[in-house]
Amino acid sequence: MTLKQARFALAPLALLVLAGLVMAMRPLPSSLERVTTRGELVVVSRTTPTTWYRDQHGETGFEYELARQFADQLGVSLRMVEADSLPQMLDMVANGDADLAAAGLAITAERQRELRFTSAYQDITDKVVYRLGETRPRRIEDLAGRRIAVLDGSAQEYQLEQLRAKGFDVAFEPVQSNSPERLLTLVDEGYFDLALVDSNAYILHRSLFPELASGFDLAQEQLAWALPRSGDRSLFMAAQRFMVQRKAAGDIARLESRFYGHINSFNYVAARSFLNHIDERLPLYAQVFREAAGDSGFDWRLLAAMGYQESLWNPEAVSPTGVRGLMMLTRNTAREMGIEDRTDAMASIRAGAAYLRKLYDRIPDRIADVDRTWMAVAAYNVGMGHLEDARVLTQKQGDDPDSWDDVRKRLPLLRQKEFYRDTRHGYARGGMQSIIYVRHIRRYYDLLVWATSSDRHGPTLVALAN
Ligand code: GLU
Repeated sequence: MTLKQARFALAPLALLVLAGLVMAMRPLPSSLERVTTRGELVVVSRTTPTTWYRDQHGETGFEYELARQFADQLGVSLRMVEADSLPQMLDMVANGDADLAAAGLAITAERQRELRFTSAYQDITDKVVYRLGETRPRRIEDLAGRRIAVLDGSAQEYQLEQLRAKGFDVAFEPVQSNSPERLLTLVDEGYFDLALVDSNAYILHRSLFPELASGFDLAQEQLAWALPRSGDRSLFMAAQRFMVQRKAAGDIARLESRFYGHINSFNYVAARSFLNHIDERLPLYAQVFREAAGDSGFDWRLLAAMGYQESLWNPEAVSPTGVRGLMMLTRNTAREMGIEDRTDAMASIRAGAAYLRKLYDRIPDRIADVDRTWMAVAAYNVGMGHLEDARVLTQKQGDDPDSWDDVRKRLPLLRQKEFYRDTRHGYARGGMQSIIYVRHIRRYYDLLVWATSSDRHGPTLVALAN
């Protein structure tokens, strides 16, 4: 072989070696690139009312919605996975089995050794919860001699460990669960004296546990998303930017108002009688709600929530304005829906559901749920005409007529001349009432959704619905 021939023979080999070198020198894909290449963001969470659950439109919850917005921004799909316990969740993030945890996790110094937290999206407190009728704990010293339940591996367990290290007399026990509801049940049933839970979880659960109350706030916590500390920071930086931007744009406040905004109006007496009525009245009608739900395409718990708001599930209910029956139909609506006897519970529920469906179908298709459903529910109460007027007014004022949050603010304006003067249907007295009406129904609906998956009411309700 001449030298020239040898050079030709070796050239491809040299190219191969060169290519190999270039490959080896190319940096590994970053954590952010791995997510975008995979086309999927894997988020670990837990199913609780403050984080992630299912309702009539599928998956929802504060954490779920926020995580979905982040996945959308990255242009990838979202895969939610569940962890049974907090330690398992933290391990999954630290080991890279999930890209991040979005699960109402508090930022703690201990966790920061393994994890990196984004800016906080919610400030909460640790509530010391006790049974009404027992001495209310008011300060740390009052914890002495009482058995406290905390979630295993939680920020609260950490708080109590710190207190113990400082010499306080605190007797606590970690409970193997990922759900604050479990702790509340244990106190409610007398297995523990106190529970330490996140204030946001306490607020959402309170109505399911009217016998429990909050003694005092033990500490403040900040909730944030957790990402692994090891590895590069690219995904963390993206999450952090997202969080900061969404906060500044008011999206976080909007989510807060969506998931917590309709809670306040629910008091102890209302909560207690709601639970009693679930046991005493709902069983009589659950099956009818379910059938009507099948026919109309709504979640039976939504129809049940409406029936509760309308009449407290009382088929004999009558209002001074002449509406009547379990679903409180006017004479005209009853006629339109083809029923004779409005006090016949079965007929009332079927007609109410079919009427709601009719309203829903008249609302433009492009309006996404959940807005479309709440608009239909509002129209059930205030009338389609006034709802339409409120939507037109919303648009005139530069807001979004397809958003229930924007439209509801205009409903009360329809009783002021300067606003109703130019509308098609004129003066509407009940604008404010219809906002409260929808808010209550959302509250009852949420409670029914959670109650169907809770340990205590769940079995009865699920049995009723089947
Ligand atoms: N936020 C708590 C934590 O970070 C979880 C406990 C709870 O949900 O009450 O550990």
